[in-house]
Amino acid sequence: MISSQLNDTIAAIATPIGESGIGIVRLSGKNALSTADKIFLSKDGKKPSSFKTYTTHYGWIVYSPQSKVHSPQQESEKLSTIDYRLSTNIIDEVILTVMRAPKSYTKEDIVEINCHGGIVALREVLDLVLMKGCRLAEPGEFTKRAFLNGRIDLAQAEAVLDIIRAKTDAALRLGTQQLKGTLSTQINKIRDALLDNLSLLEVNIDFPDEQIDTVNPKQIYEKLKTINTRLESLLHQAKQGRIIREGINAVICGKPNVGKSSLLNALLKQERSIVTSVPGTTRDTIEEAIDIKGIPIKIVDTAGIIEPKDLIEKKAIQRSRRYIASADLVILLFDGSKRLAKEDEMLINKLKQKTTLAIINKIDLKQKIQRHRLLKRFNYVIDISAKKLKNIHLLEDAIVNLVYNGKLNASSEPIMVSNFRHIEALRAAQKLIAEALNSLDNKLSLEFISQDIKEALIYLDELLGRKFCEDLLDRIFSDFCIGK
Ligand code: GDP
Repeated sequence: MISSQLNDTIAAIATPIGESGIGIVRLSGKNALSTADKIFLSKDGKKPSSFKTYTTHYGWIVYSPQSKVHSPQQESEKLSTIDYRLSTNIIDEVILTVMRAPKSYTKEDIVEINCHGGIVALREVLDLVLMKGCRLAEPGEFTKRAFLNGRIDLAQAEAVLDIIRAKTDAALRLGTQQLKGTLSTQINKIRDALLDNLSLLEVNIDFPDEQIDTVNPKQIYEKLKTINTRLESLLHQAKQGRIIREGINAVICGKPNVGKSSLLNALLKQERSIVTSVPGTTRDTIEEAIDIKGIPIKIVDTAGIIEPKDLIEKKAIQRSRRYIASADLVILLFDGSKRLAKEDEMLINKLKQKTTLAIINKIDLKQKIQRHRLLKRFNYVIDISAKKLKNIHLLEDAIVNLVYNGKLNASSEPIMVSNFRHIEALRAAQKLIAEALNSLDNKLSLEFISQDIKEALIYLDELLGRKFCEDLLDRIFSDFCIGK
């Protein structure tokens, strides 16, 4: 299935559909150049199959560059010939780039046609290359080919998607680092170390009575311990990596009328949720994504935990509770102009287990809140006025502080892991190595240790894509856009 997929030549529009300066139709595969020969009329009359790699050429995409071909004697009349062909044939004036195998994105011959951006020109050029025998590429198929042809591993292929999807500078940096192969290099090092240990163990298992260097369990123990520490450290940074890649889920909580919607608006600096002075108007949750100093933050303005009056409110409150349960951070709001109410206390107790920022809102009004009680309960207590946009930056700083230095797991090491699939594979591998260490501690047979190492290796191989199933590839690449 996979090898037959690689036999054909794929094509797609590689730029977003809509009006733009240029749009690119991309071809990859063994017939990319011969297909280009059939549709490209270069100014100097040369065919794309004769172009050197990484060169660009001016010309026209035409229905048939060979129509009305003149004899060599009419060389001097070439221009008028081209003019004639163009008048009947032309689809678009283009720049065509050739990138020959194996030094191309897919390791196959690639032709990129820079057309005028505009849906009709691009569509017609694409239709033409499909008519000449190319197949429409599936989402992510160019990158999939780069992987299947061995130019990048699976973790790097996934980094391509992360780069395309990056919403912040930090996420972009993480993606480019992973594409460069920093994570893959680390995983390969761990893999090599595991293979070394495995071969030592296997020799002893296969030839227990031979006169070979018997394995020293203590030595193996030390080596596996180092590997385990490395895996743990990668996993330790992973939570932060995930935050950079996916953002954090923050929830704004507080009793009705404390200013939750006003705060969300202040953070968004735009009027998106309805601000009103009637308690409990935010009947449902409102979700917004913001970027605070490079961290994507999904903020949910919850309905608040109040006694529901009807089914809709009951559902909204249930939904709020679910959001709170899965939130990385709770922004708990209090009304500074009022004494702490029973509902405030209820919320404080309910959120004991969560990472919480306590915010005293409405500091523009006369303060009645028992601040000392909040200071005793929370590490962070910040005074703001959502309405007057006062101290919002302090709240933003506190969020960033929490993400980078505080409870949301900070690490001084560079972050390498951010993708959930990678985290799962690393976690499984680490568990197996920890088990192997345990078995060594308990002086169990070397075969158990060897088995654990073999299984851990499978997880690392899956992470890198050394072992994969078609379903996994489909799952990964179906998230890509067509043309990438
Ligand atoms: P929610 O029910 O918690 O979402 O509260 P809202 O954001 O709808 O705000 C309730 C009321 O408090 C509105 O009348 C707001 O204008 C007002 N309010 C919000 N923040 C402040 C503030 O910092 N100072 C003052 N004086 N009023 C505020």
